Amino acid sequence: MKHIILAVLLLCIHCKQNKAKSLKKSKSNLLTIVAVGDIVHPCNTKLKKVFSKLGSNIYSRTRKFLQSADLTFGNLEAPLTKQKTKRPKIYKYQFTGFPEEARWLREAGFNLLSMANNHIYDAGKKGVKDTFQYLEKQREFSPYLKWTGAGLTKKQARKYLVFSPQGKNFKVAFLAYSYCCENKVNLFRLARVKRDIRTVKKQADFIIVSIHYGREYTHIPSRKKRIKYKAVIKAGADLILGHHPHVAQGVQFYHHGFIAYSLGNFAMGTKTSRYKKRKAKMYSMALRLTVKIENKKVSFLKTEIFPLYTNNAKPFRIKKKKEEFTPFIPKFSKGIFAKRILKYIQKWSKQLPQNKTRFILKKDKLIAEILDEGQKGMQGATYAP
Ligand SMILES: [Zn+2]
Repeated sequence: MKHIILAVLLLCIHCKQNKAKSLKKSKSNLLTIVAVGDIVHPCNTKLKKVFSKLGSNIYSRTRKFLQSADLTFGNLEAPLTKQKTKRPKIYKYQFTGFPEEARWLREAGFNLLSMANNHIYDAGKKGVKDTFQYLEKQREFSPYLKWTGAGLTKKQARKYLVFSPQGKNFKVAFLAYSYCCENKVNLFRLARVKRDIRTVKKQADFIIVSIHYGREYTHIPSRKKRIKYKAVIKAGADLILGHHPHVAQGVQFYHHGFIAYSLGNFAMGTKTSRYKKRKAKMYSMALRLTVKIENKKVSFLKTEIFPLYTNNAKPFRIKKKKEEFTPFIPKFSKGIFAKRILKYIQKWSKQLPQNKTRFILKKDKLIAEILDEGQKGMQGATYAP
């Protein structure tokens, strides 16, 4: 009897090892992407002390999630520098972030950052230069850490990245654009984006486009924004990661790709009354996508949306229940709180015209699937370019 049990045990271990091996093998053609929105912890505001005390703990509740992907994306919305802000006074909000944030981000698991946004030049050229230097230092620990979207020269700002993620047998392109402000930030001009995509298409199997654009505090993207984003997908992008409105907007599969119009805030040092004025919800999302890339063919295997409540001043209340409050430390909502946010994201998505996306509300997350006659029963879109 003992021998039989031992034999069964050994067989199980053997099976597990084989499974692990085959999993590893198949993984080289899979790409997992985690994406979150805006990241700012200004050290030029009253909150400086709060942030320096929190340090890398800011990411303590999301670190595991952030580290669960091959590519972990965020929008770095302030220069990391000791330099003072430099803009004319008409810019009401000007931010500089902690130099230490470079380490906090790297330790949290971020390895793909966009710098194309309206704040990256808040401390001028020096601010951008310092940011590059602080991030460069982190490459010693995380050689795959990458960023683009702003530069010391126009040419540098417009640089797109084409690279093979660690252990993968395909190439990913990453491009980042912003609606404004300096010409040393890569500006979102449709003709330029299309041109860039045409170029990277020859080199890359999967194209990610980060866009900082859209009206703030609105949950439904404007018609103009929708048309532009769809044109970016039609030009050949596979995934659009949108941000800037500070709140979540809907998502959709379109043509062969996936669009997140706005991921919302992620880790922000703001307590703002502007949400109230605009009747906006302080709801954000984190995305996790699993994509298969084989022989130039891309399939979205799984698209998951996780809910974030981003009010740093007030806890989340639903009727008599109060969510655990962790100001300035983003965390995922659970239970009824998760359901509330995800239902809104679903609602905003359904308000996007001709949105052929089906949503399945699971425990504390939302699954998005393509709803297409030819694709019935599939987890996502499959196409051959
Ligand atoms: Zn912005």
